[in-house]
Amino acid sequence: AELIKRLEETIENFPDFPIPGIQFKDISPIFLDPKLYEDVIADLVTFSKGKIDAVCGIESRGYLFGIAIAVALEVPFILIRKKGKLPPPIISEKYDLEYGTAEIETREGQIKKGQRILIHDDLLATGGTTEAAAKLVEKQGAIASQFSFLIGLKGLGGNEKLEKFGAEIYHILEY
Ligand code: 5GP
Repeated sequence: AELIKRLEETIENFPDFPIPGIQFKDISPIFLDPKLYEDVIADLVTFSKGKIDAVCGIESRGYLFGIAIAVALEVPFILIRKKGKLPPPIISEKYDLEYGTAEIETREGQIKKGQRILIHDDLLATGGTTEAAAKLVEKQGAIASQFSFLIGLKGLGGNEKLEKFGAEIYHILEY
């Protein structure tokens, strides 16, 4: 409860950014407060401790916390990148955006068959990005076991979209 309050005071809300109708949550002030960052990581580590074999972080804000979770749990960290940034061989997954489509990729062979994977990102909105990440993980014979986020936005269908994976879902705070 105390961590939630500190985060609420720290995360900045920007109405109508980057386009009208979007309430943009800026998490960058968290990095101005190392103690807060440490407590966020400890909270996310507690959620995943003993339950996962690797962490997948989603570009780019998912890296800022995901790598620290993986190091604390002494498990591998795998980068899920936007299309065109990784050298081949790669595995990719397409998904729909509000306008058009996007694609995410991982290096082939970094995710191992049967691994229980935590998929981490800073924020869950519609769940489109995370759903694609989970499909990418399952395509490689691993299990999307957990999803974690700092922030879950309510009413955008994110939790519902992730339900089919049967994984645990955690966000530190919801708006
Ligand atoms: P979704 O695919 O769930 O609709 O969108 C989630 C993705 O968009 C995440 O990768 C997240 O980083 C980014 N995102 C969407 N809205 C926001 C926001 O308000 N603040 C931040 N920090 N990221 C956002």
